[in-house]
Amino acid sequence: MTTRATVDFDAVVIGGGPAGSTAADDLARAGHRVLLLDRAGRIKPCGGAIPPRLIQDFAIPDEMLVARATAARMISPQAVEVDIPIQGGFVGMVDREHFDEWLRERAASHGAERRVGSFERLSRDDDGISVVHFSTDTGADSVRTRAVIGADGARSQVAQQAVPGADKGRFVFAYHEIIAVPEALPEGYAASRCEVHYRGSLSPDFYGWVFPHGASVSVGTGSADKGFSLRRGVMQLRAAAGLAHARTLRREGAPIPMKPLPRWDNGRDVVLAGDAAGVVAPASGEGIYYAMLGGRLAAEAVADMLRSGKPQALASARKRFMREHGRVFWVLGVMQHFWYSSDKRRERFVSMCRDRDVQQLTFDAYMHKRLVRARPMAHVRIFFKDMAHLLGLARV
Ligand SMILES: Cc1cc2nc3c(=O)[nH]c(=O)nc-3n(C[C@H](O)[C@H](O)[C@H](O)COP(=O)(O)OP(=O)(O)OC[C@H]3O[C@@H](n4cnc5c(N)ncnc54)[C@H](O)[C@@H]3O)c2cc1C
Repeated sequence: MTTRATVDFDAVVIGGGPAGSTAADDLARAGHRVLLLDRAGRIKPCGGAIPPRLIQDFAIPDEMLVARATAARMISPQAVEVDIPIQGGFVGMVDREHFDEWLRERAASHGAERRVGSFERLSRDDDGISVVHFSTDTGADSVRTRAVIGADGARSQVAQQAVPGADKGRFVFAYHEIIAVPEALPEGYAASRCEVHYRGSLSPDFYGWVFPHGASVSVGTGSADKGFSLRRGVMQLRAAAGLAHARTLRREGAPIPMKPLPRWDNGRDVVLAGDAAGVVAPASGEGIYYAMLGGRLAAEAVADMLRSGKPQALASARKRFMREHGRVFWVLGVMQHFWYSSDKRRERFVSMCRDRDVQQLTFDAYMHKRLVRARPMAHVRIFFKDMAHLLGLARV
């Protein structure tokens, strides 16, 4: 086993988004020598919606929240609106430009070393120790490390180079526009309400959103269908939200992974976290919480590996994640496949959201990431209502 003296770092974390910053922070707090490498200069395209569970588990201060949504409006293909109050809480909105930088700085304040640079490749030295090669403004550089956490987002280079099966990843492409909220608010616009639009012309397999962020608003959509024009979808959505002529601050898009990768580690010294591991919830596209949790589990797996010298410890990150969330991901995947596949089904889906049990369960699951075992009778009721909708027995 390598000794601490022969390496530059215990762990190099590649990527300083929510997953990497959390991993670096946790490892640094535990007293490990950590490098957090991130290529700067691009704000992550993201709706920025985060649940209370994230705020609590990862100690996010109030000042990071640019808005709090206390209701969600689901809008069907035929423009039927179902308002769901978010009882006893709110969905937080963060601005990724400041949120991500705050997370990176928090890791640095606990002892992680920050470098701005772009990861290039992994190699091994004559002792078999991992060498991370990266480029910076001043040229090429490299460091030797006992462990690598790949948190470099969807289409991760670390995953491609080090983890078998990473080439199997599939993606939804998401696009949004950040728009300045006009002084004269459009009719029906509420700063504390998210809108979720279900219509084939806005997305054939996902949904469109309008997420207020205080002075700005994120209007976006996503699809795995490469022939679908996301820009046209957003144009329609802006018109529907009365924001067609409002000032556009940014236009940006990025892939969202559709499925957790079959392996997150290389059985030796590399483990993945967040989008790099393929971890975004189907149907909702929620990724920030799962990225931070993945970062935390990867950090714990690495700490365990460093302590025990057993590379098998790295596999615990995926195992623990899937034990906790694998079933929910599977259900959401089935739900997306079924309910988002035609306007007729979308109409039924939105209609189903009127149901109090569905509302309660959906929001509890989103907000607190638990409850699946908490209210068995509600699940039974929803199951039967769901079946009635599937079979066309319920009125739309
Ligand atoms: C349009 C859109 C809207 C979304 N809306 C939401 C939402 O409202 N709520 C939600 O929960 N999720 C949302 N998501 C998903 C969410 O943004 C991601 O799941 C989340 O950002 C994943 O975090 P991460 O740390 O794994 O990866 P990222 O946030 O992508 O971070 C990866 C980091 O790695 C760095 N990096 C990449 N390559 C290299 C390299 N070669 N060298 C060095 N550094 C590198 C990047 O600079 C970046 O900082 C949305 C996604 C999109 C595309």
